[in-house]
Amino acid sequence: MTAWSANDLKVGQMLARQLFETLERESADPPGVTRKAYGEGERMAYDLMIKETESFGVEVEHDAAGNLFITLPGEDRSRQILVASHIDTVGHGGNYDGAAGVIAGVCAQAIFHAAGRKPPFDLTVLIMRAEESCWFPYSYLGSKSALGILDPSVVDSLRRSDTGRTLAEHMREEGFDPEGVKKGASLIKRDRVVAYFEAHIEQAPVLVNENIPVGIVTGIRGSFRYRTAKCLGAYAHSGAMPREYRKDASAATGELIYRMDGLWEDILAEGRDLTVTFGEVMTNPEQHGFSKVAGEMHICVDVRSQERETLDIVRERLQGLAEEIGAKRNVRFELGELTGSTPAIMAKPLQEMLTSAAEATGTSYKVMASGAGHDAATFANEGIPTAMIFIRNENGSHNPDEAMDMEDFDHALAVLAEALATSPDQWPQPTTS
Ligand SMILES: [Zn+2]
Repeated sequence: MTAWSANDLKVGQMLARQLFETLERESADPPGVTRKAYGEGERMAYDLMIKETESFGVEVEHDAAGNLFITLPGEDRSRQILVASHIDTVGHGGNYDGAAGVIAGVCAQAIFHAAGRKPPFDLTVLIMRAEESCWFPYSYLGSKSALGILDPSVVDSLRRSDTGRTLAEHMREEGFDPEGVKKGASLIKRDRVVAYFEAHIEQAPVLVNENIPVGIVTGIRGSFRYRTAKCLGAYAHSGAMPREYRKDASAATGELIYRMDGLWEDILAEGRDLTVTFGEVMTNPEQHGFSKVAGEMHICVDVRSQERETLDIVRERLQGLAEEIGAKRNVRFELGELTGSTPAIMAKPLQEMLTSAAEATGTSYKVMASGAGHDAATFANEGIPTAMIFIRNENGSHNPDEAMDMEDFDHALAVLAEALATSPDQWPQPTTS
């Protein structure tokens, strides 16, 4: 038996259509939509969600950074479930990235309200600020500020994308409290939070290709990156310089890419999770041209995995290959500054709740990793039980052609609402920190 009747779910489905349409109309910026973080579009979207939830009997609060908490009181008010995402977009983006997760939360509240039922615990829709790092060049600004762990220096950093003003000025302009953010003010009491859920459109074509509406996420890939790697050799005449005397940065880089591609295949064959991407592979056109052996190459490398151990293994192998190929080909690889992020593991008990909910509601689903980063990673890495639902979406994201079918959204909403109706004793115990 399912927790909700078709009529209960209908309330959420109708509201979802209305909210997506209003968002799209009010933030239209052809082609696509623009909802700038700490800007007009985001403000409109926040106001819309507040207005729509008013009649549910919710409590509304915002924190120092302006993250919004819309709480439907639960049977047991000592604990809290967060259903969260962001509502900003990139410039001329699509209507669904971020908004789908927020609207899923609001519609789940609508379903409880319409059915005259209370959620097992306080059910809070958390709408986070500035997830898209195109406005301020930082990842997870909203989730980090919501948890009170945003690096204080970020608050004084400049928004170079358009206004040239600081994040603090933007926060103040919207009526928020940058000093509070610096001090780590947070409305989230971690020992109250039993679960963090985030629904999000899939940003890759896996669900489309496999013809499955919903994904249940196992983890969000972490990464290591070398954005400014170089291969240093020596420029020489392409006809005159014999093979054995060459220091050909181009050939050495080619070998490194090819061998790393082989390593990627091997690691996948071991059943591990990995992506390896080389980009910006180029010579310096001011110094290099036709009939010259390349004396220098610029490279960047982006390696991602759900498993920290795999990232460590691959990083060591990359360094080893760079040395080996460098010695063999008389060049030197300088990998440069290392950056990256930690993989985030989704909580097993919550994944199981979602798979049971999918089975109960007759929704076909795929268990899969998330390649792209999400605010959920911040929560998972802070020890809060976290889960994600992906919704099938065509044409990727961060572009005007994002295409999520409303029927697929309905499936995801049914799974989420079913899971949220789980009886209180079946939820994971909150972390005690
Ligand atoms: Zn997003």
